[in-house]
Amino acid sequence: MLNNFLNKMLLITSILTLGSILFKKYLFQQNKYKKEFLGFFGGTIGILFFAYPDLIHDNALYIGTLWIILSATSLFGNFSSSLIAGLMLLCFDLIYFMSLDITIISLLFILICGIADILPIRQKYKWLVLNSSWFLIFLSYSKSLSIPVYPFLMICITASSYVLLLLYLIRKNYISYMNLKIQATKDYLTGLNNKRQFNLILKKTFSNLGKKDKLALIMIDIDYFKYINDTYGHPTGDKILKQFTEVLKKLCPTNNISRLGGEEFGILLSNYSLSKTYDLAEKIRSGIQESPFKIDEENTINITVSIGISVYPDTAEDISSLIKTADQALYKAKKFGRNRVNLPLKIYNIKEPAS
Ligand code: GH3
Ligand code: MG
Ligand code: MG
Repeated sequence: MLNNFLNKMLLITSILTLGSILFKKYLFQQNKYKKEFLGFFGGTIGILFFAYPDLIHDNALYIGTLWIILSATSLFGNFSSSLIAGLMLLCFDLIYFMSLDITIISLLFILICGIADILPIRQKYKWLVLNSSWFLIFLSYSKSLSIPVYPFLMICITASSYVLLLLYLIRKNYISYMNLKIQATKDYLTGLNNKRQFNLILKKTFSNLGKKDKLALIMIDIDYFKYINDTYGHPTGDKILKQFTEVLKKLCPTNNISRLGGEEFGILLSNYSLSKTYDLAEKIRSGIQESPFKIDEENTINITVSIGISVYPDTAEDISSLIKTADQALYKAKKFGRNRVNLPLKIYNIKEPAS
């Protein structure tokens, strides 16, 4: 008995560890079938818990497993999660030990999940509704199933509370971790990579470059942005920076876009030749010039950008000179009158990319 129990615990710990590694992101990201997947995952764990290592006909074990799995899938998912998990467990039980009472209890348990799902109440009250309803259902069948009521209820409620607490802590920690990660890597206003992330990506991309690979950098600075702030106010300036980001994303074939400073942006492109980089920069420059930017519900303004480009190894010898030459080219674009694309004077080679 103890061996069986320890084996089950070992199995659940391994599944949860493996699951948290494999599906961590999948379960937390926006995903259309996230809740259904949670139900399937819960159902699989339930069946394994019920059946491993020995498949014995034990109604208490089956109802206990159903109880714990349904409360987790119902509170962390929705009705479809508990429906999938519940039906999986029920089908498994029906295949091996056909029993009318167990089928009715399972369906009633699942029905309670459906009712709890539509109740407009907070999670902890849902937990109460689920457990007390299941308690009543179980109580009315406990005699015919010959399961000792109080020890069984204590085990079910303690185990389901423990599982829920554990899941709640895992979710809370993961959300805090993701928030910290976003704060450390993303710009708060535009959601683009921040300068620290830009530097990390640049270093990583550079260290992975093959002998014939190229790396292009496009540096963009909005023209006379201080004037926009002074004329329309800082909040409108912020609104324009957000709209600018959206236009930039549409014009760019990569999402490797970073906000390097106030109104300065950097785009990294792998294996872009100098001419291809210039063409893209020119497309961005004209695209921005032609896009209207809303300053309020009725009025729009037009803005322009100055752009400096540089490509390793054509116009730069290493990382720092890639940034420096693009920055100098941008400075000259400003100096020569703004709303233009400029490239470094010194070109070392003009070979096209390998691919
Ligand atoms: P230039 O054509 O030479 O680039 O002129 P500029 O006015 O764009 O350049 P300057 O560097 O003088 O001014 C940049 C302005 O960008 C000043 C600063 O107030 C503004 N700025 C920086 N960060 C933000 C921000 O997050 N929101 C807003 N609204 N403005 C910002
Ligand atoms: Mg500027
Ligand atoms: Mg600037």
